[in-house]
Amino acid sequence: MSIISEYKEMSYGEALESDSIAQDWLKENKRRFGHFINGKFSKPKRTFKTLNPANGEVLANISKADSIDVEKAIKAANKAQNQWSSLDPHDRAKYLYAIARIIQKNSRLLSVLETLENGKSIRETRDIDIPLVVRHFYHHAGWAEIIEEEFANYEPIGPVAQIIPWNFPLLMLSWKIAPALAAGNSLVLKPAESTSLTALYFAQICEMVQLPKGVVNIVTGDGETGERLIEQPSVNKIAFTGSTEVGRKIRQITAGKGKKVTLELGGKSPFIIFDDSDIDSAIEGLVDAIWLNQGEVCCAGSRLLVQESIADIVQKKIKERIKKLRVGNPLDKSVDMGAIINESQLGQISKMVEKSRGEGASIFQPKINCNEKGCFYPPTLITDVEPSMEIVREEIFGPVLVMLTFRTPNEAVEISNNTQYGLAASIWTENINLALDMAPKIKAGVIWINSSNIFDAAVGFGGYRESGFGREGGKEGIFEYLQPKESQYIGQTTTSKTSRKIKKSTGLKIDETRKFFIGGKQVRPDSGYSKKIFDIYGAVVTEVGIGNRKDIRDGVESALKAVSWSATTSHNRSQVMYYLAENFSKRKDEFTTYLENLLSDNDTDTQVENSIRNLFYYAAWSDKLDGIVHQAPIRANTLAINEPIGVIAILCSDHMSFLSFVTILGLAISQGNRVVIIPSEKNPLTCLDFFQVIETSDIPDGVVNIISGNHDELGKVLSEHNGVDAIWCFGEKAHFKSIEALSISNLKQTLTFEGKRIDWNNPKSPVLKEILRKSVQVKNIWIPYGE
Ligand code: NDP
Repeated sequence: MSIISEYKEMSYGEALESDSIAQDWLKENKRRFGHFINGKFSKPKRTFKTLNPANGEVLANISKADSIDVEKAIKAANKAQNQWSSLDPHDRAKYLYAIARIIQKNSRLLSVLETLENGKSIRETRDIDIPLVVRHFYHHAGWAEIIEEEFANYEPIGPVAQIIPWNFPLLMLSWKIAPALAAGNSLVLKPAESTSLTALYFAQICEMVQLPKGVVNIVTGDGETGERLIEQPSVNKIAFTGSTEVGRKIRQITAGKGKKVTLELGGKSPFIIFDDSDIDSAIEGLVDAIWLNQGEVCCAGSRLLVQESIADIVQKKIKERIKKLRVGNPLDKSVDMGAIINESQLGQISKMVEKSRGEGASIFQPKINCNEKGCFYPPTLITDVEPSMEIVREEIFGPVLVMLTFRTPNEAVEISNNTQYGLAASIWTENINLALDMAPKIKAGVIWINSSNIFDAAVGFGGYRESGFGREGGKEGIFEYLQPKESQYIGQTTTSKTSRKIKKSTGLKIDETRKFFIGGKQVRPDSGYSKKIFDIYGAVVTEVGIGNRKDIRDGVESALKAVSWSATTSHNRSQVMYYLAENFSKRKDEFTTYLENLLSDNDTDTQVENSIRNLFYYAAWSDKLDGIVHQAPIRANTLAINEPIGVIAILCSDHMSFLSFVTILGLAISQGNRVVIIPSEKNPLTCLDFFQVIETSDIPDGVVNIISGNHDELGKVLSEHNGVDAIWCFGEKAHFKSIEALSISNLKQTLTFEGKRIDWNNPKSPVLKEILRKSVQVKNIWIPYGE
């Protein structure tokens, strides 16, 4: 064969990585593994086989944990929690450094082991997974060192239960374990049934560094084991990565149990190519976006959106490129794509693709020549699809790309956001203005500009909408493993209480029944029902409406329409907020008199005074809750930008009913959210009258919607409403239980306090600061930078 024809063919010989190092380790362990509990491995029991998906060979026998094993693991974590959290941060950091070093020293073995069990190419485990794992432990060793100065007034939340999937076994472990340990938590982790080996090796690393017993516990098993774990009463926090379906189940099981939950779930992320992009770079980016890890990536760019004018050329180039992707033995260093995790996943991918073929889609798949016993699937391009087809809407978790076209940037935004997910997006254009115009418009937790699928320990990762809530990585990820110190919840106030002057009844009497405030107008309750409001002397003052499902629907509709409030500049918002606070202060005496007649609390005058002060405080924060720039050790910087959550439903507290209403209202809207707010069930009147201040303060119609009524009933409707993005409950314990359970339909972010009392007088308290932090969600925008 001539050199020219060799060059044209680009045929290659195998370049196999030896697996002997990993096989020796498996042999040393007799290919049988128990659980790692309280610093020791248990005897293997009830074992199941773990297979190499590239050839079907049995690698090892892994134990399935039952309830007793899970209980033992949690008990060990509980016992270790105090010791670990009270360790000097410097000493905690040293353990994390030691773990990082040992992983680095054994990176070859771990790369091979991961490839053997997961089927992903050695090129990826060696160059991406394991280096990122090392980076995670080093980076978080740093957080452990400085945790006290950076997170004063916070404490660890542990013990923690962590459940991870099979697509990035050791990387997902490090995303979970490194921040949890850095923040002072003990934990129990369950790896995926198909990929437990690197987690078990990690357990041996914990032995090597002599991590105190019980700080890290690893139990293996299937979904049932996972369920046992999250059901444990003494688990305080659950961190889960996996399918949206199981995420929903976890939210349901944990509802009302006072556990903090973070969910990192599925996606159907858009990969957008504009006609001015560097098309060849975009195609290479696409290879990383959808064919990395056989497409088994939650943030895979599985929905390609191409500007119509370049659709043909892009399609042609993709086909040429994927014909050259090498699919085969993942231990071959020249292979691009290895095996799919197991037969069931392979079957699922194939079923979805064939279904789309039946619906009229065109399928392009290059021929691949692989070991028949292995679970291989070719890189696939699907065209001629409709937005309503399953293949366009649902996560495939395989090497399958669907292609759609668009004409204008706005259309690209519309198609991108036409999904229940919101994990990531990739934007390709040479026009930085266009890229930065698109980035805030796309509803996703991560935006990659002229790049895709890049990750770093310093940068938060996580989704919007049904892609879950919470962030992993970066400073935002550390917050997820901490909570404001228990002592920050009160009874006691920071401002001195003034003793109440006993006044005679002013004979306060209001003729009109108080209406709701929806879409900037006063609205009569749909039900026509109202309830009497009494003054402190027992006389009827007036009546307030009792809201129903229809009123809530109208409230949410008008909040959804008021989207301009979320899009306006923070400067504009702060001006409106100051105006609101000023207008309110002018009516201080009127509201004080009202409250004095309506509430038996001793501190009605300070409630009004502090409500005004708190509104000014949140006006100040309107343009100050800045994001940060993460400096990842990659040719990119990341803007971590705080964006409003959207529509927040709020059930207010009876405790300091007026102050808490005004404070939480001010807090939420100051960050660009629109609210449907339900005042205290006991004392709604003054809150309903607050519309008079809003009406005169340039707050756009629909930003604030006030509806009174029964918290159980209205809370249920709000929890189930898919237009509501988050629901906050400051009320009674009974309400928050049902709210967490009912909010699973669109996986709303929930904020509940188990009936704990908050010091509403002090907006600087860590609890209110934490709520302010929760009033936004972080979007990480990766921008190529420097050389
Ligand atoms: P799952 O969501 O089922 O599994 C993720 C993890 O949760 C695994 O450790 C699993 O255990 C565990 N688990 C399963 N059921 C429960 C339960 N009821 N309670 C607690 N833990 C549970 O993902 P699969 O691995 O089954 O994959 C199914 C689909 O999910 C894929 O086809 C893909 O579409 C999607 N997926 C998405 C991921 C993402 O990051 N977005 C990651 C993985 C999958 P075990 O593996 O032992 O069953």
